[in-house]
Amino acid sequence: MVHDLYQEIILDHSKRPRNCHTMANATGQADGYNPLCGDKLKLFIRIEGDIVKDASFVGSGCAISTASASLMTESLKGKTREEALKMLDKFHELLTTDTAVSQDLGKLVVFCGVRDYPARVKCATLAWHTLKSALTNNAAEPVSTE
Ligand code: ZN
Repeated sequence: MVHDLYQEIILDHSKRPRNCHTMANATGQADGYNPLCGDKLKLFIRIEGDIVKDASFVGSGCAISTASASLMTESLKGKTREEALKMLDKFHELLTTDTAVSQDLGKLVVFCGVRDYPARVKCATLAWHTLKSALTNNAAEPVSTE
């Protein structure tokens, strides 16, 4: 029964994605593309100090990739850069191994069923891989021409 609930949450986020808009004052952004499925997204992130203050995305993709981006942007707010990267590792583990579901992931556990569909793992992790690139490519840093 718990899996029906998970399905419902994924469906809800794919139909009414949260934080689905561009961000004018982003400190980092990155584009992600999953050619296997055709999922595309642009991720925006605003970091103050070391804390993720805001995260949003725009794009077009399947239900899994959209729901994943929606839930990810919700989960990121208030996290440090390091915590965000740790969540990425745990999320990837959730989707690719049979280990017990990590309690640290909160709502993100709804994606645990995706591990039964290896072709969809890339859909669910696309937003996270894009996040990694947005976190390391910080637009607030001065650009060096040297
Ligand atoms: Zn997809």
